[in-house]
Amino acid sequence: MSLELDDSVGEVAGVGPARAEELRAAGILTVGDLLSYLPMRYEDRSVRTPVSDLRPGMRTGVDVEVLSVRRKGRPGPRRATEAMVADDTGEALAIWFNQPYMATRFEKGDRAHLFGPVDEYKGAIQLINPVAADNADSPHLGRPVPIYRRIGSLGPGILRRLVSSALDQLAADQQRLPAEVTTQLGLIPMRDALRELHYPPTGADLALWEDLRSDAHRALAMAELIDFQTVLGLQRQRDEIEPGIARLLTAAAVDGVVSEFPFTLTEAQSRVLREVCDDLSADYAMHRLVQGDVGCGKTAVLGAAALAVALQGEQVAVLAPTEILARQHSVTLGTWGAALGVDVLTLLGADPKPTRAAAAQRLREGGPLLVVGTHALLQDSVEFERLGLVVIDEQHRFGVGQRAALRAKGRLQGTQPDLLVTTATPIPRSLALTIYGDLDVSRIDEMPPGRSPVATRRLERDEWPTLIDRLRAVIESDARAFVVAPAIESEEDGPETLATVQAVAKRLSEELGSDVVAILHGRQDSETRESTIEDFSQGKRPVLVATTVIEVGLDIPAATLMVVVQAERFGLAQLHQLRGRVGRGERNGECWLMVSSDITPTAAARIETLCETNDGFVVAESDLELRGAGELLGYRQTGPFGFRIANPRLHADWLRDAHQVALELARVDTTAALEYRERLRSTWRTRTRLARAG
Ligand code: ADP
Ligand code: MG
Repeated sequence: MSLELDDSVGEVAGVGPARAEELRAAGILTVGDLLSYLPMRYEDRSVRTPVSDLRPGMRTGVDVEVLSVRRKGRPGPRRATEAMVADDTGEALAIWFNQPYMATRFEKGDRAHLFGPVDEYKGAIQLINPVAADNADSPHLGRPVPIYRRIGSLGPGILRRLVSSALDQLAADQQRLPAEVTTQLGLIPMRDALRELHYPPTGADLALWEDLRSDAHRALAMAELIDFQTVLGLQRQRDEIEPGIARLLTAAAVDGVVSEFPFTLTEAQSRVLREVCDDLSADYAMHRLVQGDVGCGKTAVLGAAALAVALQGEQVAVLAPTEILARQHSVTLGTWGAALGVDVLTLLGADPKPTRAAAAQRLREGGPLLVVGTHALLQDSVEFERLGLVVIDEQHRFGVGQRAALRAKGRLQGTQPDLLVTTATPIPRSLALTIYGDLDVSRIDEMPPGRSPVATRRLERDEWPTLIDRLRAVIESDARAFVVAPAIESEEDGPETLATVQAVAKRLSEELGSDVVAILHGRQDSETRESTIEDFSQGKRPVLVATTVIEVGLDIPAATLMVVVQAERFGLAQLHQLRGRVGRGERNGECWLMVSSDITPTAAARIETLCETNDGFVVAESDLELRGAGELLGYRQTGPFGFRIANPRLHADWLRDAHQVALELARVDTTAALEYRERLRSTWRTRTRLARAG
């Protein structure tokens, strides 16, 4: 009775090293993770039927006495066990196939509770492979029970046993919210909620559980949503107290920056840039999210804002999720900056120490400049003298904690740096307001002129020769092609599997010539990666075989063909992002999704969605259906506040209630609210630290 949710899953009775390893591989590290492993459905095993009422086709339980047990058939693994069982109303046969241990499980005279399908064979009523227990107080029987999706070798029965041990061992006090809140909202106690999540009470409407809307789901989801919204509320309050920098950005100054760009802004880009500049000129700190589908031109907007602020004599930090993207931004912004007289620095984790130290030194000294970097910008050794604007590109790749960490670097002077974040993830407006509760949203809803949709098709494995012909045509026309594979290399990768960069590159080199094929992946050192992209971009090696390192942001206008091998292994959003790498220049783009022969219906549905639409919104809607909002918005994996039970889409009404409560909790100074905020802060600190380390 003393386990905490943060304890290792290895502490649960029945979890030895081997099982712990299997659970870990599925992302289940703690007791809390295990208890958040939701059943895929429930089966009501509380029903009991008198033996004389058993009819073929039923699935039911019986309370019986064992009259006799015997083995049947030839010895071997297929040998069956039969038991004659009876209650006051009659007799029936229970029969188990492939379960030799059942022969020793019961003896004549034992009481047993059985549950299973009923059949009739030669006029006799039989229970086929029933689940059995000595008494009705079993995790498997006698009540509504959870049915879990298998994890490795751990089937639903074993998982039920482990979950139920964890529930039994769980410490009594799991309360998170202040008592007034739980009373006001009528939430059941957390420990009961955790139990009922897996074991609905007898007689409960299981449809509510399967729709994730039971009282148990509500109590757990509310706790998550209120925590999350309160943190956003606190952050916002703090930002409002600390004034932002009011600077004078004249339209002429901004036009001067934009006139250095090699294109004219679209109407949508201009409108969004105006919204950004209004915030930058005001005396409150900006919190703005710029959302726009892959390829709509977010770089121009963030670049114009960043350069305009740097021209005012302030420092600007641009954070990118990958090194490739950071380098690309420093080239783009560097070119524009050079024309305007703004220094653009780069700070990457992969840079040699002296280079990084020199960059950090310049930031401390405080010259007006723009620095582009990766996570390396978040390190404690990086300090700014006068940070005026923080830009985070592809912000869904980062956690809320990282956003706060970078911004905190500008707080030294008592004002709050402005914050501009971008994302290609389309979020329905209603969801944006609640999830990004602390951000204002601008949308770039128009593509640069001359773009046509990327023609997308599914390609079967045996269409390889078609692919080779297409690649030859790409090379001849001086275009570029990406070929993306799910892995770098693997031991079991034979010549036929084509699952890895190495295997695909080898085969393509054989057929197209090794001098046209380049390889790019995350395990190369950064110099190799840089020169590889350069060669590809210049057309020295027009076919680039890569992992998903190229997924976000990469901008090579000459690229016209994106090929993904084993496309069934990628998520929808990921494939849409990959597809966004082509068709960015004057020539139309094509995306070929090559699949293996035996793909699942869901994978086929993903591919079909992509073939049918180029609209990021439709793709995201589909993705929501398939995965749930938490994961889509990136909080499940990277955010310090992973939603385990709450699903902002399914629980939109709860989210609204949570929002109200959280506003209050963030504001009032009652003892309960203060204690609650203290608890949140310590969780927040730990998780932020983890997010920064990770
Ligand atoms: P994303 O929104 O995905 O970050 P980028 O900013 O990388 O998109 O822009 C995609 C491509 O479109 C780039 O090659 C960029 O130069 C080009 N582009 C951006 N804005 C315009 C515009 N207004 N007119 C023409 N091309 C543009
Ligand atoms: Mg981009």
